[in-house]
Amino acid sequence: MSNSLVSRAIYRELIWVVLSLGVFLFFAWLTGYWAAILILYLALYIVRQVWSLYQFEAWLHGDSDAVAPSSGFWQVLCFFISRQRRTLERRAELQNSKSEQFHAASMALPIAIVSLTKNHKIEWFNNAAQTLLSIKPSDTGRKLETLVRQPEFIQYLKQKEFEKPLFLEAFMGQTRTYRCEIFDYYHGHRLLILEDVHELYNLAKIRKDFVANASHELRTPLTVVNGYLEMMIDMTDQIPDFWEKPLGQMHHQSLRMQAIIEDLLTLSKIESDTLVNAIKVVKVDEILKNIEVDIRYLYSGDYDIHFSIEEGLTLKGVEEPLKSVFTNLISNAFRYTPKGGKISIRWFSDTLGSHFEVEDTGIGISKEHLSRLTERFYRVDTARSRESGGTGLGLAIVKHVLERHDSELKIQSQIGKGSVFRCDFS
Ligand code: ADP
Repeated sequence: MSNSLVSRAIYRELIWVVLSLGVFLFFAWLTGYWAAILILYLALYIVRQVWSLYQFEAWLHGDSDAVAPSSGFWQVLCFFISRQRRTLERRAELQNSKSEQFHAASMALPIAIVSLTKNHKIEWFNNAAQTLLSIKPSDTGRKLETLVRQPEFIQYLKQKEFEKPLFLEAFMGQTRTYRCEIFDYYHGHRLLILEDVHELYNLAKIRKDFVANASHELRTPLTVVNGYLEMMIDMTDQIPDFWEKPLGQMHHQSLRMQAIIEDLLTLSKIESDTLVNAIKVVKVDEILKNIEVDIRYLYSGDYDIHFSIEEGLTLKGVEEPLKSVFTNLISNAFRYTPKGGKISIRWFSDTLGSHFEVEDTGIGISKEHLSRLTERFYRVDTARSRESGGTGLGLAIVKHVLERHDSELKIQSQIGKGSVFRCDFS
């Protein structure tokens, strides 16, 4: 279409030039002033183009009384520009309606959203944020810290460590649990999200409390049952031979149940926040030396045991849970390494921090299990774990304790060759 428009414009312009030139040439022939009439023609032609250029400029600026030049190529140019303008206008309308839609959606979201600058100055916020944080449109540009008077929240904003969310059990006078998250979203701008997670949080708390209470309640009756079983096993002369095997099995199983309950209680203790108050300098070297004595006493003849402990290397943390990390990893190494194998335990420091490492030449673990090992009751070989007295909770305990010490468990393993369990502390 545009091609035919251009060719029509050229055609019309040519006709106009030919006709007007013809008239001028006719007059030149009549009068004999060829040169003067030709110069006049050229001057009028230039005036016409300059006039069109002025018309074009006024039209381009959108002057109210301006009309598009109607002559020759200018007309085509105006047509193309109008068409382009219409396309751009349509695009802008679409863009506007999309951004209005997005704005309306973010305003209607039930979670509070606040966009902040790098320095935590408020840029915009949605309706939920307005209600929850009691902020008004006139607060735009003010620092959030100056408007929200909640110490943990202000601390969280100031620390600028936003990898982990903050849970607020009461916020701005509301006794509900909120999850607060901040992340970078656009050239250093930050998005604050506050979500009411009261129901979910309560459910998780109820579940944790239930497990802790049930384990606690089971502890006493089980100790009684276990005590009687031990007593009966000791009364070999008064109990018929027939009962010997069942009693042994009952005793074994009740010991297993006791171990599971103890581990469940340890886990719920770690999950509760009471640990924070017990942080002190833990003499890991001394703890490991004591463990070494027990281990050598138990396994010296059966395994090639190596302890390498850096003298005086301590760690800031909570002693009891850290002890359970060390004992769990060490006892697993013996549990999953056939007799005759080599087990090395190292506690050392380097420029990156302190490291605890247990290496064994045991059965190893295939890759697909590695990511799930720290789940509660996850076992690669359930029968083997039960047989060797495993509860299936050891590595879950390790994971939780390490999380509380800003560390994580790293596992390298090869089936049939052995495993390395490592914890890095900064
Ligand atoms: P369990 O009480 O069954 O040992 P854990 O949570 O301590 O439970 O370990 C989970 C699973 O991880 C174990 O059942 C075992 O399959 C595997 N595992 C742990 N440590 C080792 C190891 N050193 N070598 C091989 N497998 C291991």
